[in-house]
Amino acid sequence: MSILSARNQAEALVDALNIKHAPVDVAGVASQLGLEVVYIDLGEEISGALITGPQGSRIAIRKSDPQQRQRFSIAHETAHHYLRHQFEPGEHVHVDRGHLISHRNQRSSTGIEAKEIEANQFAACLLMPSRLVRERVKALSTEQLYDSHVTALAKEFNVSEQAMTIRLTSLRLL
Ligand SMILES: [Zn+2]
Repeated sequence: MSILSARNQAEALVDALNIKHAPVDVAGVASQLGLEVVYIDLGEEISGALITGPQGSRIAIRKSDPQQRQRFSIAHETAHHYLRHQFEPGEHVHVDRGHLISHRNQRSSTGIEAKEIEANQFAACLLMPSRLVRERVKALSTEQLYDSHVTALAKEFNVSEQAMTIRLTSLRLL
């Protein structure tokens, strides 16, 4: 598994599900993959979790988070499921605390960090598929993207401006 493979798998999923318009219905994607999404009180620091049991997997999302944050969390947990990060047999709970902030702790050497990066890359590609983003940027008919364009694109894809900025940069559009 690699970052490139995670990105490619997300883009392939977008094509397979025939997603042609923004914003991507990320909860719908989760549901098409057999993941139930529940919105519950997860406490102060936890934004999302993927709970895998004998019956399958469920995504828990913090009820009080803003919608864009929830969408990213759903995409991130969907990524862990789709990329088969939950390889341990039986019950397994994966808890996420902050997606866009890199984890600076002892976990970084265990390989968990790599899975978080892959999940974030997958999530970004699912929420902002390259084909759709390029299409919408082209439709803006501008030589250069300004802050107002980024704001409009973020709104259109229903993601945070921070997430859109990172995505546009990685697509070399910004
Ligand atoms: Zn994670």
